[in-house]
Amino acid sequence: MSDDCIFCRIIKGELPAQFVYKDEKVVVIRDINPQAPTHLLVIPREHVPSADKVEDPSLWSQVMGVATKVAKDLGLVEDGYRVVLNCGDRAGQTIYHLHVHVLSGRFFRWPPG
Ligand code: 5GP
Ligand code: ZN
Repeated sequence: MSDDCIFCRIIKGELPAQFVYKDEKVVVIRDINPQAPTHLLVIPREHVPSADKVEDPSLWSQVMGVATKVAKDLGLVEDGYRVVLNCGDRAGQTIYHLHVHVLSGRFFRWPPG
């Protein structure tokens, strides 16, 4: 846990968020500034700053397993959904606590901008 990390503070309950899923390893919240009708953030409870700092590869199956589960549970599969991970400033990462975005409810261009 990191005292100055927004996601750690949300996970600790110090800052509000709309939770859609919680387990012992991972939480899912709604993004405060949604870029699609559904925009979720899948966040491991452990404070890992970014994808390149993951030491235990099982973290990936936990995070991606939950991303897949919430996509199914929230009915996103039929419409389609996109999973995004920004790593580093130039890729658009703004919060340095690992998370993956799950976006759905609109058309997504490929390749992304
Ligand atoms: P990144 O740019 O690091 O890939 O994604 C960070 C995401 O966190 C952004 O989409 C941003 O809108 C979201 N975000 C930033 N602060 C908060 C907050 O306090 N609460 C929630 N729910 N989302 C946040
Ligand atoms: Zn954190």
